[in-house]
Amino acid sequence: MITPWGFPDFDAHEALHFVTDEASGLRAIIAMHSTHLGPAAGGSRFWHYADDADALTDALRLSRGMSYKNAMAGLPLGGGKAVILADKNRTKTPQMLAAFGEAVDSLGGKYVTAEDVGISVDDMIEVARHTKFIAGLPVEEGQVGGDPGPHTSLGVFLGIKAAVKRKLGKDSVSGLHIALQGAGSVAGGVARHAAAEGARLSIADVDAARVNELAKVTGATVVDPAAIMTLEADVLSPCALGAILTEQSIAALNVPIVAGGANNQLATREDGDRLHARGILYAPDYVINAGGIINVSTEYLGDGGPELVRSRIEAIPHRLEQIWAESEGTSRDPADVADAMARKLIGRG
Ligand code: NAD
Repeated sequence: MITPWGFPDFDAHEALHFVTDEASGLRAIIAMHSTHLGPAAGGSRFWHYADDADALTDALRLSRGMSYKNAMAGLPLGGGKAVILADKNRTKTPQMLAAFGEAVDSLGGKYVTAEDVGISVDDMIEVARHTKFIAGLPVEEGQVGGDPGPHTSLGVFLGIKAAVKRKLGKDSVSGLHIALQGAGSVAGGVARHAAAEGARLSIADVDAARVNELAKVTGATVVDPAAIMTLEADVLSPCALGAILTEQSIAALNVPIVAGGANNQLATREDGDRLHARGILYAPDYVINAGGIINVSTEYLGDGGPELVRSRIEAIPHRLEQIWAESEGTSRDPADVADAMARKLIGRG
């Protein structure tokens, strides 16, 4: 018999909740990797999985990733994640969201949720009718909360600047060529910051309307999605999909720096070594893309205003510099160094 404890990604999860509500058709997994630093916080994903084992693996990996991300961002939060198992047609009903809200509520605040892939702000408003253990809700102008995207973009942009300083010895991205994969929420913000500082941009997205619109406002060149990963540039910033850094794609990279907002960029752990071996400076994804969760955390905990959010985001480059310095000193790749630092912070070092 295969049990969740036997899953390769189980990694001593503190708790796993398998939620079923027959009336609404809800099936969900709430994974809580660690509450060492605070309540397990991480978004809810609504996704159709090939089978239940895939859903469990995704929940376990995402939840552990949130433990690492929250710890490395210096937040008083543990790591968790929920996945709602959608049917093939991705049918989502208010009853299902209500049942999910009740499930989150029944954990009494040990798990705190927010939006993730497949869950909109409107969905979260529905969930929030049934639990207060939630963030990422719309707020009034000047208050902390709402869309995490712009905060993620700011952190990624500051991380790119830190990488440029370290690898190329430059204080600004002015005149540098940045290749952006994606033209969505995170990429859009990164592109605007970089264009404002005088960078030359190439952008690719499978959504032609979206990429053309972003190119118009930033003066970027639109590139075929199949070509962006091999473009010769100063920085590749993956801001779309996960698992894009593979043995094959890394061998074909034409950049000295990879620094972007997409989650889980490395297809396998060995791909961190592969980047390192090629002398490409990599910004570990969960460290550079923490701006959004920093905003979510401050909204949920109510422990500060926009200035605290800003100062926590401005700490992202310092954290990256620590990682890169340790990586250089030990010849371990930055992803490996970041994982070890994160595990120490959550008491598993
Ligand atoms: P988004 O949906 O707004 O944008 C993603 C874009 O990627 C879309 O425009 C989509 O068309 C494009 N895309 C999909 N496949 C592509 C391909 N093969 N080539 C090029 N483009 C492709 O999402 P987002 O919020 O900008 O998130 C982007 C990434 O950043 C995701 O990996 C997400 O998990 C991660 N992330 C987002 C946040 C946040 O605050 N939004 C925080 C942390 C991490």
